[in-house]
Amino acid sequence: RAKEMGGRRVEVFAAHMHADVVRRLELAADLRRALQENQFAVEYQPVVDLATSRVTAVEALVRWWRGSVFVPPEQFLGPAEDTGLIVPLSEWILKEACREVAGWRESSWDIGLSLNLSARQITAPRFVETVSEALAESGLPASALTLEVIEEMLVEDAEDTVAKLSELRALGVRLAIDDFGTGYASLAFLRQLPVDMIKIDPSFVSGLGCDETLTLLTRTIVRLGHDLGLIVVAEGIERPEQLELLREMGCTRGQGYLVARPMSARGVDHLMRTTLQNTA
Ligand code: C2E
Ligand code: MG
Ligand code: MG
Ligand code: MG
Repeated sequence: RAKEMGGRRVEVFAAHMHADVVRRLELAADLRRALQENQFAVEYQPVVDLATSRVTAVEALVRWWRGSVFVPPEQFLGPAEDTGLIVPLSEWILKEACREVAGWRESSWDIGLSLNLSARQITAPRFVETVSEALAESGLPASALTLEVIEEMLVEDAEDTVAKLSELRALGVRLAIDDFGTGYASLAFLRQLPVDMIKIDPSFVSGLGCDETLTLLTRTIVRLGHDLGLIVVAEGIERPEQLELLREMGCTRGQGYLVARPMSARGVDHLMRTTLQNTA
């Protein structure tokens, strides 16, 4: 009897696994088709200088509409990474975003581009060449491009990653640590790689003004960043009191729904026109 029950449990478990495998295979096939059929889009979230409120950069964020259903990046980036599709997808995002930001700069809007990297993208054989090509083809100056990586990409067996990122930095590209403070890396990795910027994770910013420990930690990260000569960006600013505290702490830049939501290229066009009008 017990054996019977156990057997049934295994069957139920296997059915779950089967459904999971099927779902993943379907997602992989859909991703491949989406890439061929140009179903991906890039949105841009403005990053502002907290002292002046000027837009200093936009962060490119990939978007996928699977039919009429929006799939969040966190749901398809893992499978895209597992299947290797992340490599052509990332190349498309890179070229598209460089081209668009170069266009905005041509209208004499002095903004930079921040781009998220995936681990597999960096270890792909032609990564450095692909970035150089994107810059050359678009005319975007290397110094206007910031590449964002997370701490995890810089720890275990990361010699190849660190070497490639250092090579790009030697060309003038800037490097940022995204989601700073959430990784399991020690602070020593900040010496391994010459970074220009840290982006404080929203889990710290969310506690500003309502959680003493998180407020203290945010203040400490801002000070640490400045002492190391880095640009410090706060992410996930949603409430006015967070913005006020970050300004008071001297945090360099900010990003979040309170400042601006991610928007389409047309949205950025519009933002640029109003910005340039106001500063003219
Ligand atoms: P991330 O690089 O840390 O990007 C910030 C995420 O926070 C974005 O989510 C953005 O829409 C969201 N966000 C911005 N302001 C606020 C706010 O005030 N409140 C809240 N709750 N969220 C805010 P998104 O677009 O869903 O992207 C999630 C993650 O997926 C990104 O985190 C990044 O790690 C990854 N990702 C997005 N686009 C790309 C891409 O093109 N390539 C790669 N490799 N990864 C990407
Ligand atoms: Mg990012
Ligand atoms: Mg982040
Ligand atoms: Mg993130």
